[in-house]
Amino acid sequence: MKKRTPNPFSPLWFRCVACGTCCHEGLPVITDADARRIMKATGLPVEEAVALVADRAIEFPKSAPDWVVTDRGPRVLTVRRRGGKCVFLGADGHCSIYEARPDTCRLYPYAWELDAKGRVRRLSFISGIRCRRERDATIDLAAYSALARQEDATFDAYAFKVQIWNEDQQRRVRAGRRAETAREFLRFMGLLGT
Ligand code: SF4
Ligand code: SF4
Repeated sequence: MKKRTPNPFSPLWFRCVACGTCCHEGLPVITDADARRIMKATGLPVEEAVALVADRAIEFPKSAPDWVVTDRGPRVLTVRRRGGKCVFLGADGHCSIYEARPDTCRLYPYAWELDAKGRVRRLSFISGIRCRRERDATIDLAAYSALARQEDATFDAYAFKVQIWNEDQQRRVRAGRRAETAREFLRFMGLLGT
């Protein structure tokens, strides 16, 4: 069989070496579905699993629909960090919630776009994190597309709920009241007991 050599311009050539750099340097933005799955897998209460972080803690487009209006300004839902890394990064350098990890982590290290048929039509490596990937294997594009489609649908459902929340908060502010707290947002998302 003819040995294939990596095309240096193709992002399809990628093998994760499990260095954990993205779990130190990155901060995965998540949805309520991710939070629910993580809480179920770990048994952790929401405040120990996820965080709502301010823009000083995350580089994230201001126009993204993930921004949640709270009494302390806009926040984004992420996994919780401690000691400069994701709380779920194990001492062995591996993700301790691998089966339940957020969709963002499953789709890392790519930025992607889907076409009208739900196939990935554009794929590029996300910059900014010193990913130590090897380029001696290729990813399964069909499997990646399926995952991206599922993430797209989950994200749309989350963004819709965030929009409803944000519109409510903006109405409160227009009426001269304070926006509600991040904790109330978690309750609204069904992540806290009532
Ligand atoms: S959830 Fe797992 S894969 Fe995602 S940042 Fe945390 S340790 Fe890394
Ligand atoms: S930084 Fe890259 S090689 Fe390292 S764990 Fe993350 S995806 Fe894998």
